[in-house]
Amino acid sequence: MKEIAIIGSGFSSLSAACHLAKEGYDVSIFEKNHTIGGRARQLIKDGFTFDMGPSWYWMPDIFENFFSAFGKKPSDYYKLEKLDPAYKIFFADDTITIGDCMEKICLEFERIEPGSASHLKNFIKKAQTNYDIAINKIVLKPGLSPLELVTKETILRVDQFFKSISQEVRKRFKNPKLISTLEFPVLFLGAKPNKTPSFYSFMNFADFGLGTWHPRGGMYQVIKAMGSLAEELGVKINTDSPIEKILVTNGKASGVISNGKTFRVDKVISGADYHHSETLLDKEFRQYSEKYWNNKTYAPSSLLFYVGFDKKLKNINHHNLFFDTNFEKHAQEIYDNPQWPTSPLFYANFPSVSDNSMAPNGCETGFFLIPIAPDLEDTPVLRMQYFNIIINRFEKRTQQDVKNNIIFKESFCVKDFIEEYNSYKGNAYGMANTLTQTAFLRPNLKSKKVKNLFFTGQLTVPGPGVPPALISGKLVADLIINKH
Ligand SMILES: Cc1cc2nc3c(=O)[nH]c(=O)nc-3n(C[C@H](O)[C@H](O)[C@H](O)COP(=O)(O)OP(=O)(O)OC[C@H]3O[C@@H](n4cnc5c(N)ncnc54)[C@H](O)[C@@H]3O)c2cc1C
Repeated sequence: MKEIAIIGSGFSSLSAACHLAKEGYDVSIFEKNHTIGGRARQLIKDGFTFDMGPSWYWMPDIFENFFSAFGKKPSDYYKLEKLDPAYKIFFADDTITIGDCMEKICLEFERIEPGSASHLKNFIKKAQTNYDIAINKIVLKPGLSPLELVTKETILRVDQFFKSISQEVRKRFKNPKLISTLEFPVLFLGAKPNKTPSFYSFMNFADFGLGTWHPRGGMYQVIKAMGSLAEELGVKINTDSPIEKILVTNGKASGVISNGKTFRVDKVISGADYHHSETLLDKEFRQYSEKYWNNKTYAPSSLLFYVGFDKKLKNINHHNLFFDTNFEKHAQEIYDNPQWPTSPLFYANFPSVSDNSMAPNGCETGFFLIPIAPDLEDTPVLRMQYFNIIINRFEKRTQQDVKNNIIFKESFCVKDFIEEYNSYKGNAYGMANTLTQTAFLRPNLKSKKVKNLFFTGQLTVPGPGVPPALISGKLVADLIINKH
């Protein structure tokens, strides 16, 4: 039986572990932190439950596909609910509420821009076709060759790889609020909408067509499910086990060192951040230079707050976006001229609005996220300053006082991403998916310098996000099993 060591226990590592164990490999996971899940860990404090990272459960089909590979269903492990409304967007002078089906969303679009519903239906129809091509064909390719992208379907749509999603949206809609609403989903891919190919409109189908879901108990239930499945399949999960070195013998990965102990294996996969993973190798075995990493476009980092409120809040939904300031200016301050934002957009998540298991009775669990450029200076004073900015805006937009109802507040930012996850420049969700950082143009799943060494996760293919991480784990497992 072949032995495999997997570094990290994020979604991609857990996915790879399950697929390989099912094929009979002897798999051991080594996770540096005390609990599994990586960026999707959970914080439980005073009866409040927080997902520390991902909170949007999109593309339920990908989760179903993952579990079905093992003869299971998500419902064997967790209870999934479709949210209605899916989310609410606050603008300076109005709000937009996104319902759980196209009929409701079309009514809302008509209210804002008469005549826009028919444009929306056409836009989503095209987005659905792109979704089918992307999810069923393109993302299942391991990014080994440019030829993988050349299919009958992509040739017919080649223009969509050279036009941006911004152009595509602006061609059809004039109202700035609708434009921001339709540009929001591609932010999950980590780049500005005017740098993201319009083919990625499949994210809009994921949003309006497939809906926003919530696993009861939070996203961590999915990590728990995958952890249980991995153990059912025989995977050994070692927490508090940082990998200090990847060993190479005669050009082949031959083991790992954790807590000073050597573990000899036949293959190594790293699901930790790619840049960090390469630093675990002696210099001659690294594929990419510091210059290479430095020149890439990263998905943003984030300033996060986990807040316990001692009352139920008004005028909020489960997911809330505060787009009440200048979207373009904030994007420039993330990508073009990295600096702390002048007037940040932010996201606020209150899972206890729809799931009473996530907060004590009569209380609200609040998670606030400000996207920021990676690598910014991170100090307690700056964190406090930004908390005050957003909580004041939150009170104003939702018309209520909440500051005196805060029982506790914890924050997480650039320094923590580096310390907790060995994240390059403190990025929150990996390397952006731009035209020049797509598919075979991303860091490889398979080392070009060391045999039997592989990588998975949000810095390689297909890219950032939980569904791509599930797929990335399968892609790397398939490379090892020789399925491609
Ligand atoms: C704040 C935030 C919000 C997000 N929101 C969403 C969302 O709503 N929906 C969505 O789909 N996606 C979202 N994402 C993105 C999504 O969470 C990630 O893309 C995904 O979880 C990444 O999984 P991964 O396996 O690639 O990496 P990770 O989860 O980062 O896992 C890597 C693991 O490697 C471990 N590690 C690092 N170095 C070592 C070492 N030397 N030895 C051992 N272990 C090591 C780390 O501790 C970590 O556990 C969000 C991310 C963040 C941070």
